[in-house]
Amino acid sequence: MTTQQPKKPLPLPMNKTLTEPFWAATKRKELMVQRCKNCDHTFFYPREACPRCLAGQAQLEWVKVSGNGRVYTYTIVHQPANPAFLNDVPYIFGIIQLDEGPRIPGNVIGLKDPHECHVDMRVKAVFEEASPDYTLVKWQKA
Ligand SMILES: [Zn+2]
Repeated sequence: MTTQQPKKPLPLPMNKTLTEPFWAATKRKELMVQRCKNCDHTFFYPREACPRCLAGQAQLEWVKVSGNGRVYTYTIVHQPANPAFLNDVPYIFGIIQLDEGPRIPGNVIGLKDPHECHVDMRVKAVFEEASPDYTLVKWQKA
């Protein structure tokens, strides 16, 4: 662990309007993804059109998912790309395959040793208030 302070503020969502339902859900400790009513595809990250059939926003809805999944892939970060995370190294950045299908990025937390993480490890969403406006989704071993 380093004691260096972040060199710049924590990054914020780039498209607040598009992602607002996701962040409102995380504040309620719920996980939501978009679903296309035209082709029944669920997906993450938030988009203005379905990545499968290109249906527009009128055909998209937000649906609650279980928050259960498995580690699809991961890396142990020792040199973060963003200096805001210098105090957190080493940490696990993973891609989580939700039981409902979509893959979502996030940190895997709560392991004594980051090397305990492995592909296919069952995980469950946990919610961490990062600021008054944003609650982050992180993942713990289930
Ligand atoms: Zn679609």
